Amino acid sequence: MKYNFWFVVGSQFLYGPEVLVTVEERAKEMADKLSELLPYPLLYKVTAKTNQEITDIVKEANYDDTCAGIITWCHTFSPSKMWINGLNNLQKPYCHFATQYNKEIPNDEIDMDFMNLNQAAHGDREHGFIAARLRMPRKIIAGYWQNQNVIERMGDWMKSAVGVAVSKNLKVMRFGDNMREVAVTEGDKVEVQTKLGWQVNTWAVGDLVKEMNAVTEQEIDDMMEIYSSKYDISTDNINAIRYQAREEIAMKKMLDRENCKAFSNTFQDLYGMEQLPGLASQHLMSQGYGYGGEGDWKVAAMTAIMKAMGENGNGASAFMEDYTYHLAEGQEYSLGAHMLEVCPSLADPDKKPKIETHHLGIGMNEKDPARLVFEGKAGDAIVVSLVDMGGRLRLICQDVVCVKPIMPMPNLPVARVMWKAMPNLTEGIECWITAGGAHHTVLSYDVSAEQMKDWAKMMDIEFVHINKDTTVQELEKELLVNDLVWKLK
Ligand code: MN
Repeated sequence: MKYNFWFVVGSQFLYGPEVLVTVEERAKEMADKLSELLPYPLLYKVTAKTNQEITDIVKEANYDDTCAGIITWCHTFSPSKMWINGLNNLQKPYCHFATQYNKEIPNDEIDMDFMNLNQAAHGDREHGFIAARLRMPRKIIAGYWQNQNVIERMGDWMKSAVGVAVSKNLKVMRFGDNMREVAVTEGDKVEVQTKLGWQVNTWAVGDLVKEMNAVTEQEIDDMMEIYSSKYDISTDNINAIRYQAREEIAMKKMLDRENCKAFSNTFQDLYGMEQLPGLASQHLMSQGYGYGGEGDWKVAAMTAIMKAMGENGNGASAFMEDYTYHLAEGQEYSLGAHMLEVCPSLADPDKKPKIETHHLGIGMNEKDPARLVFEGKAGDAIVVSLVDMGGRLRLICQDVVCVKPIMPMPNLPVARVMWKAMPNLTEGIECWITAGGAHHTVLSYDVSAEQMKDWAKMMDIEFVHINKDTTVQELEKELLVNDLVWKLK
């Protein structure tokens, strides 16, 4: 889907036609220039002067699947009672852009005509009041429209809004159920569909095996060419790689047939399969599909959404699991990995991941599964976990700093990422556990905490951010207040 955003400019008839013509020209100019710099086009739609015009444009926006959100601005004053009916019906993400056409006050030429045209400073306050009064979730971005930082923030918000659109249409394919007895991977699928739009349903592993058996040798040959162009084949066990190709082709056919962008499976249910999909899941993830291990459909869905929110609609975001800690003083790190399934979008782009085969003792693997092995790159990142608190969903986001793994770990046969959690490893762990965050997360290098906060706000779910300033004591208070607030909602 090619998404766009609509620029809706508020005004009124009071100023006479000349001013309105100028407002329209400038709004078009701004939308055109911004479209060149933003990740998605900003289409100028209307200079709205009446209740009817606003109601009509909102109805149109709601109905148009390509419209991922509206951005409003008041060059002149736009009395807000005429916005009430429209805003009450708005079903798309909403950003209030508090900006100004001119950057500076023109010392010599400023007169009352200038003042009548350039009224954003009070026009945007009138506009802001009504959204506050209506308790609308919205993003407010203030600043000169050509300022680099302002454009970046708007771009980030657009990506969050696209995350909303992706979420509302997301279908998740579950191969089997979740791992027996595990709590955090459970959740209310009806609540999730109501709140986030996800359609989460199960397909039998037998259906997948049937699809795998129908894959041709030619299809596998073609996939092997793709693998060898992208990765270093570091094993003689070519049959194991060919088996992963067969699994990938079959899973992709089923996903695409049902229009699913995320999937989960579990090592406890591989009935009729020789290997847990490793390379197969990893290569699917690199193409933008979300994945969750052990039947974790929530993390699978979040991975797909956060990938879509990233650079070029498929960013460096991946299913991750906190595995083990390095607790040496002054060198405290988390080591993240999974049994097999870490997305190569986390790898250093200059180093080709290796395809290796190793024995995997856990699960029902008859043969050694092939998997990609690589190191995650260094850089600022976040880890995100969505948990079902019973009656509501909580999105937990923690700032982390990824480092090049501090040791080579030559006998570890999986991809690995190493990071420092905020505010520091042990307090970070205490905060995470206090909030109920899962061992499965989405780790992202190019979606920010602010974007996840915006997404959570638009989705109307609880958001908890663990950052350099968080303390357990303050977090406990915040969670207590959240419990009360969300009971009232
Ligand atoms: Mn796991």
